[in-house]
Amino acid sequence: MLDKAPNGKISNLLGALDKALSAGDVERAADLFQADCYWRDLVTFTWNIKTMEGKDQVRDMLKARLADTKPSNWKIADGEDASETDGITESWIQFETEVARGFGHVRLKDGLIWTLLTTMSELKGYEEPLGFDRPMGAKHGAERNRKTWKEEREAEAAELGYSSQPYCVIVGGGQGGIALAARLRQLNVPTIIVEKNERPGDSWRKRYKSLCLHDPVWYDHLPYLPFPRNWPVFSPKDKIGDWLEMYTKVMELNYWGSTKCKKASYDEKGREWTVVVERDGKEIVLKPKQLVLATGMSAKPNMPKFEGMDILKGDLHHSSQHPGPDKYKGKKAVVVGSNNSAHDICAALWEAGADVTMVQRSSTHIVRSDSLMELGLAALYSEQAVQSGMTTAKADLIFASLPYKILHEFQIPVYNAIRERDADFYRRLEKAGFLLDYGDDDSGLFMKYLRRGSGYYIDVGASELVANGSIKLKSGVDVKKLTEHAVILSDGTELPADLVVCATGYGSMNGWAADLISEEVANKVGKVWGLGSNTTKDPGPWEGEQRNMWKPTQQEALWFHGGNLHQSRHYSQFLSLQLKARMENIPTPTYGLQKVHHLT
Ligand SMILES: Cc1cc2nc3c(=O)[nH]c(=O)nc-3n(C[C@H](O)[C@H](O)[C@H](O)COP(=O)(O)OP(=O)(O)OC[C@H]3O[C@@H](n4cnc5c(N)ncnc54)[C@H](O)[C@@H]3O)c2cc1C
Repeated sequence: MLDKAPNGKISNLLGALDKALSAGDVERAADLFQADCYWRDLVTFTWNIKTMEGKDQVRDMLKARLADTKPSNWKIADGEDASETDGITESWIQFETEVARGFGHVRLKDGLIWTLLTTMSELKGYEEPLGFDRPMGAKHGAERNRKTWKEEREAEAAELGYSSQPYCVIVGGGQGGIALAARLRQLNVPTIIVEKNERPGDSWRKRYKSLCLHDPVWYDHLPYLPFPRNWPVFSPKDKIGDWLEMYTKVMELNYWGSTKCKKASYDEKGREWTVVVERDGKEIVLKPKQLVLATGMSAKPNMPKFEGMDILKGDLHHSSQHPGPDKYKGKKAVVVGSNNSAHDICAALWEAGADVTMVQRSSTHIVRSDSLMELGLAALYSEQAVQSGMTTAKADLIFASLPYKILHEFQIPVYNAIRERDADFYRRLEKAGFLLDYGDDDSGLFMKYLRRGSGYYIDVGASELVANGSIKLKSGVDVKKLTEHAVILSDGTELPADLVVCATGYGSMNGWAADLISEEVANKVGKVWGLGSNTTKDPGPWEGEQRNMWKPTQQEALWFHGGNLHQSRHYSQFLSLQLKARMENIPTPTYGLQKVHHLT
């Protein structure tokens, strides 16, 4: 008799799935899925980051990948119980493939799989040395001329990149490159991070001085080493810089600071990169098998070209170059743009006593930080979530288990609730002339971030200054030109300016491939980021996953890594396993390699 309790329902389903897959019976396996199902696979079956949408795509993937993958041992994850709410039965699950152990999550509707998440936890035979398997550190016994840990580290640092070659070079030593390198270190993949700034954390230190993280601490942990429980909710930028520097050191990363990557080219025959870097004024050629660009999705400034830029007598810079407000007390400042950086910079300039005007060309999504925390993040990333037993790993996986195709359906009610709760706040902003939006389909901040990585401000105070007129606002206009002492807007308004800050955002990461490798390779891999949602700045067709991030690209051995701290933590796991598998010559046939539809 079928067990109707949640554990029984999941076990019965997993048992049937196990049998069908072990028998190689794709049709029988596909029949265990709902017609509107989603199977999101992070590397286990597809050696890709891919969501199969609907039974046909599940069937196609299994036909292509089942024989190689050889999955088995599907069961409710050790120590976990299934649960049931509103007709959905869900559970953490575990399984194995021929080469890896996997962890995942399943939701059943009417006894069939509605969503399935399969993720690779570890490669068999290449497990990380954790817990019982941690290194000894000390070498007990006696040995002549033995080297200490320090001497061994120094020897490694002296040799790698000179007398021995790294398997992987990561260009960019912000938190993305650092988190990935930490995972690769644990997997024993020789890696060098190449960073043009002097010290780890400098990419944060060099940002405008008022910056604090917009995301709360529970969302921001790095792999292996969570922030302590007394860490502030919103980390000041220099503090996060120091944490990254400490992390780089204690995780024993080979971090080449003050080193600029100048050029890279791939030898398709020899399957090896030639990476030219300048370290301490000397040119060094590295020969890695894999190249990761972790150069930042918020690092390639979009600097507009306005007539008269060369004649403005005052200061003019992109927000990424803005030093902070100190020298602008009593001066007239114009900030072009109305997203996060624009708001932060306007508020800091106002605090410093500048006369500041924000120029808003098109609408912006604003969400108050406390509303976002309480209604948007609290269930997964908050002190309450921690108190009720939620771990960072589980929170990441729950978030990952929600298919992108329908994620907006979960988000719209959240932002509707926020609009209701903060109705007065939004009314006052509109009254001040601010152009608001909530995303093309009212799905709010996360969807905007995933689709276009821009178009919003998490309000930590600047909106009040806009609403009450302390920060002056010109909206629905563009900059027409600059004169010696002013910004002229498209409606003819003249704004006197001693300072013009262009808070105009950042370009696609494949621009880095164009700079460092070639235009041809940049075009071959195409646009980086976005889901293909056919919403503003995220043109279709539908991709189902973020373009080119953390997964194989059309250019062999070229990878992109980055995103916010949460994504960097979560996806570095899957990128590191893909790289390790290649180093160990484990076959990694990529299923569903993304086609290129857009160049930038
Ligand atoms: C104002 C602002 C506020 C933000 N707030 C948040 C937040 O609250 N939470 C959050 O998670 N994210 C936030 N972000 C996004 C933020 O950019 C990322 O989280 C983070 O900086 C990304 O890390 P990264 O390692 O991918 O890129 P970056 O930190 O940008 O690092 C890229 C590195 O690559 C280096 N580099 C580039 N080219 C070369 C080369 N040729 N040779 C050598 N090195 C090179 C750069 O020097 C840089 O250090 C914010 C971004 C900005 C601009």
